[in-house]
Amino acid sequence: MDCLFCKIINREIPATIHYEDDEVIAFDDINPKAPYHFLVVPKKHISTLNDVTDEDVPLVGKLVQIASQLAKKVAIAEDGYRTVFNCNADGGQVVFHIHLHMLGGKKFSS
Ligand code: AMP
Ligand code: ZN
Repeated sequence: MDCLFCKIINREIPATIHYEDDEVIAFDDINPKAPYHFLVVPKKHISTLNDVTDEDVPLVGKLVQIASQLAKKVAIAEDGYRTVFNCNADGGQVVFHIHLHMLGGKKFSS
């Protein structure tokens, strides 16, 4: 499958990986928008949030949990951070394999 994040999962493209288990991988965004910018990605290929099924709900919840664990690991949990899913064109999605952006280490405006 011609999917960038599947290629990272399969080690066909390198990434700086911060977390991995049998269901989820998290790595640095190559074009960070904050001092910390991780992408938390399910290993299952799901193209967009619109394609999440009932059976994927625990997996999507796990992405949020891993993001919070990474925030604690890099000691930004108390200061805070931002999590974002982009969906399709108006949401600014460019990689069509769902991923949770975890951004921190700076103060965002609301
Ligand atoms: P999105 O706009 O939500 O689809 O976000 C895709 C993200 O993937 C962007 O923030 C890109 O900087 C990031 N990205 C693109 N290529 C790579 C790569 N090879 N490794 C890590 N992150 C990447
Ligand atoms: Zn994929």
